Amino acid sequence: MENYLDNDIQFVAGVGEARAKVLDRELGIRTVGDLLTHYPFRYIDRTRIYPVAEITEAAGLSYVQFRARITGIAYAGEGRRRRFMAYAQDATGQAELVWFHSIKWIEKRIEVGREYIVFGRPAFYRGALQMAHPELESVEQALSRKSESGMQGIYPSTEKVSNLLGAKGMYQIVCNAWAQARDRIADPLPEALRTQYGLMPLREAYRNIHFPQSQEGLRQAQYRLKFDELLGIQLNIQQRRTDRLAKSNGFLFPRVGGVFNTFYNEKLPFPLTGAQKRVIREIRQDTVTGYQMNRLLQGDVGSGKTLVALMSMLLAVDNGFQACMMAPTEILARQHVATIRRMLDGMPVRVAVLTGSSKARERREALEGIASGEVDILVGTHALIEDRVQFANLGFVVIDEQHRFGVEQRARLWTKNAQPPHILVMTATPIPRTLAMTLYGDLDVSVIDELPPGRRPIRTVHYTDAARMRLFGFMRQEIAKGRQVYVVYPLIQESEAMDYKDLTDGYEAISRDFPLPEYVTTICHGKMKPADKEESMRQFKSGEAQIMVATSVIEVGVDVPNATVMVIESAERFGLSQLHQLRGRVGRGGEQSYCILMSGEKLSKESRARLAAMCETNDGFRLAELDLKLRGSGDINGTLQSGMAFDLKIANPTLDTQILAVTREAATALLAADPALAAPEHRGLDRLRRRYSGRDEIDFSRIS
Ligand code: ADP
Ligand code: MG
Repeated sequence: MENYLDNDIQFVAGVGEARAKVLDRELGIRTVGDLLTHYPFRYIDRTRIYPVAEITEAAGLSYVQFRARITGIAYAGEGRRRRFMAYAQDATGQAELVWFHSIKWIEKRIEVGREYIVFGRPAFYRGALQMAHPELESVEQALSRKSESGMQGIYPSTEKVSNLLGAKGMYQIVCNAWAQARDRIADPLPEALRTQYGLMPLREAYRNIHFPQSQEGLRQAQYRLKFDELLGIQLNIQQRRTDRLAKSNGFLFPRVGGVFNTFYNEKLPFPLTGAQKRVIREIRQDTVTGYQMNRLLQGDVGSGKTLVALMSMLLAVDNGFQACMMAPTEILARQHVATIRRMLDGMPVRVAVLTGSSKARERREALEGIASGEVDILVGTHALIEDRVQFANLGFVVIDEQHRFGVEQRARLWTKNAQPPHILVMTATPIPRTLAMTLYGDLDVSVIDELPPGRRPIRTVHYTDAARMRLFGFMRQEIAKGRQVYVVYPLIQESEAMDYKDLTDGYEAISRDFPLPEYVTTICHGKMKPADKEESMRQFKSGEAQIMVATSVIEVGVDVPNATVMVIESAERFGLSQLHQLRGRVGRGGEQSYCILMSGEKLSKESRARLAAMCETNDGFRLAELDLKLRGSGDINGTLQSGMAFDLKIANPTLDTQILAVTREAATALLAADPALAAPEHRGLDRLRRRYSGRDEIDFSRIS
């Protein structure tokens, strides 16, 4: 019975082989189950019929329906441009309906003089209403529709799929699949659990999510489906955690030896903050238990995570292991190497670097050194996860700014050893522990909640373009005091060409405006050769250049304490956490630092709120919360999904925190009673657990 949902969708009425291929390729829908879990992202009210005159551009309607008589048809264009038009009229106005393909199909069916319910997405040409590929239904047919509430789901789709299926295609296919599947849906949750948590049966949930019977029915359906997803994930995480702790195959670092102690006593340039000490202690404790460590370290920008990473790596070295540290960008990796080499100067610890642009010699030294065991610490970028990187004895892995890496990449690093190394993942993006686990798997969390002493809060202001002269004046003033300035431009793939133009225009304008010989402006962006980038960074770090014009490549991690001014151009185009990261590039020394957010006069309400929040607070945790509130749910899910360990269709762990908490508790209770979910009444739960076991065969929960 349960296997029915595994059937190929090509056998669903209205699909067939060709459509099945497209649905698979475009939306990953292969089985009836996939189709039933392809949920609408929105609902429109199909009981509402608009007078044509009310469908205006100003009304801002995304989908509408109206009831109108077809008054005439026409053809235009030739060949690929050929189109078919029909004119529709009600008592209040007229609309033009257009078809660019499937013309044969529609011309056969449409009858001039007849009345239809027309449904689609309105467009306006010089104020006149147009609709491309609308859905047309006879009035009788429309009245006999499935859902009694009148709500009809709008399904996520792609252009190819919409073209292939037409306006009502996906809905129709789901109707057909539902008709075949409705009596063959097994509920994975035991009755007792459903009663305990007040959950509607799965069958009812599918029915209501696709054909809502009422608002309340829809709400309950959403709750139930989210519950299943999050429960599936919780079962996985908790079971793996139990496994991990049962295995006790973690490397032991019992010694705090010469390397660690020499560093601590002789090299450390400043006392550790209380929070740094606490986290190092936590890591020490983890590494003497015999279990493999999986720790997430959260700490605001500038809180000194690098030092914690370095000292943990020294612990590994003291115990005869190698360590590696992976950073998301070339610049950051190079900077880490430089920092680490400088800090370890004169100590018997060998540090190598490997990035995508490592020259032959550097590459050879790194590869041979780690394979032979001569190199103790390897720092690099994604290049570290290449297959040819073979460690002699990898015991400790640090992943910096983990949100920048996909899950797969993190997991591959982990598989480098037969026995898993300890893992420390660092991030400046604060998230609650349960959420972190849902996103990244089974892990413990440490927090650095204290900045090094002597930091002054950064002053942030928002200027519009009108204040540019004032900005230049301020930059001059700071440079005259011996300080340095960043000017950052957004860079977004879709508008890359234009963004690069803005960047180079800005660079030229600044070079023109700071023509004095003692001022040097340098530029750094992704299209430059690595060697040029490095030279540019070097100039800025050494203080030869006073101004660095750059894209957001400098967003993460770059550390130049003498830089006190961060100018962010088109600041409205950055997200809050990105703005906060960028701001974190200044305020790293003892001097008062400034962040200046530049934007045009016209701003959306949301952008204005973001920039205001930046001016108001320096607290990354608060900004992260605000960010969640400001952004819509869909958006966030999309952003997080790329790095997420689990595929979610409906639950949003950042917003569904209550369900997350409840499922966590449910999973704990279920596994306590039946650790392997082996009882007959738990068979469905076991299937649910397997379904949400992660993106790949690799055990993701073990990596981060
Ligand atoms: P992040 O947590 O953003 O990675 P970094 O590790 O880059 O922060 O540290 C930010 C700056 O603070 C660096 O210049 C570092 O040398 C300095 N720093 C780190 N720990 C301390 C400390 N305990 N006291 C003073 N300065 C510190
Ligand atoms: Mg850092």
